[in-house]
This record gives sequence, C-alpha cells and structure tokens, in this order.
Amino acid sequence: MTDDTAKDAQAPAPDGPNLDNPYAHIAETEFKSRTSARRDLVDRIVNDPRMHDHKEGFESCIQCGICTSGCPAARFTDYVPREVARRALEGDPTLLEDDSVWFCFYCYTCQSRCPRKNSVAVINQVVRSMQVESGYGIKHVEMFAAWGEQFYDKGMGGTPHVFFSAIAEAWGPKWKEFIANRDAMREEMGLGGMFPAEEAVKEVQTIMEETGFFDRVKSVGGWKDHEPAKRE
Ligand code: SF4
Ligand code: SF4
Repeated sequence: MTDDTAKDAQAPAPDGPNLDNPYAHIAETEFKSRTSARRDLVDRIVNDPRMHDHKEGFESCIQCGICTSGCPAARFTDYVPREVARRALEGDPTLLEDDSVWFCFYCYTCQSRCPRKNSVAVINQVVRSMQVESGYGIKHVEMFAAWGEQFYDKGMGGTPHVFFSAIAEAWGPKWKEFIANRDAMREEMGLGGMFPAEEAVKEVQTIMEETGFFDRVKSVGGWKDHEPAKRE
C-alpha cells in the first residue's frame, strides 16, 4: 500500500462513513433519519441535567435486561425497564402516552446495576415530566396537588385535609381521637404549634412563586376550590 492509499483508507469519505468508526456513522445516519418528534424526545432526555452521568450509558444500552431483572415494579406489573431504555433511545413517541412508566417508584436498582451506567429511573423522570407538560400525565399527579397546596398554605408538608376521611376510615377511631387531642398533647409536652411561624410561611410562599412551583401545582389541578391570591 502506498502512503497516499494508506491515507485515503483512513480519511472519512466526503459523504460516506468514517472508516475509523463505521458504527458512529451508522448511528448518526439512523438519528438523522428520525422524525423531528423522535429526535426531540431523544434530545430532551440526553440534555436533561439529571442525565449528565448517564448520557453515554443511554446511548450504549446493550439491551441486556439487567434493569428489568432487578426491578420490583416490573416483577408485579406489565412495566418493562429494558423496553423503556430501547424506546427512549429510538425516540419512540408512544412513550409519551404510556401509563406503565408510572409504575416506577425511583428505587434506582436499575441504575446501580446497569453495566453501561444508563439510568432508566432518570429516563422515566424526563418522560413523566413530558407527559405532565402535554397534559396526558396529569391524571397521575393531580392527587398530589393537595400536598403542594398544603406547602403553600401552611409552609410545610403533611397530610392534607382532603385525605383525612380516607385515613380516618382506614385507621379507625383512635386516629380521630389523636387528631382531636393533638394540639393539647403537644402543649402538654412543650412542643409548641404544629406549623411554622407566619414569617416562615411567607418565605416558603415566595420560594414556591419564584421557582414556578406555585404555577406547577395549579397546572396539575391544585386549588380547584379555593385559589389563593398570589403574593405580590
Ligand atoms: S441494564 Fe442498562 S444496558 Fe442493560 S438493558 Fe437495562 S439500561 Fe440497557
Ligand atoms: S428505579 Fe424504577 S425502573 Fe429502576 S428498578 Fe426501581 S422501580 Fe424499576
């Protein structure tokens, strides 16, 4: 082989594959051939800050299925983490209307066991966010809006009143008695009030408003009955 021939063999062809890494070219061609909706989904996942340690793993998933084999949610439901990893990499838009991703409860077993350092747990977080943004996933989070309301109204979490009747039914009269006497018991033990002082509540409200959390809670069904005025 002459010097020139050797150089030609190593140089990328103008429109052809990079001979140093033909697989990279195939992957790039495959990516470009995707519809923009598919590329948007892949871009959104790989560019999410939570994926920064998992980008390479996301792109090099080998479909080994270890994530599925250790996933508690997959054991009891029709949810399949390995499939989520594949469909996310393909930019499969059906993920954006797939209710099974809500079975994941972020135990991170998949992430800790993945031989490629991919994270189906984080992929799910991004996909769920997209489902909520489109409105499709609101049905999965609206029940939690009451917690957001309580953070805003009281400055701390806890069990919102909307759940009290269900808890009372499940836990019986002793719980009702405890709630009825809770303040007196706290006073007797010198514990003070249940909720933060008014100034602290105002700070929490400011944080929720400035960070967009207030609007987020509203967008998923918060304050349907008693919308509070946003503080100025
Ligand atoms: S364990 Fe990792 S490499 Fe294996 S299928 Fe799951 S995401 Fe892909
Ligand atoms: S984080 Fe989700 S997908 Fe991963 S193992 Fe736990 S439940 Fe399964």
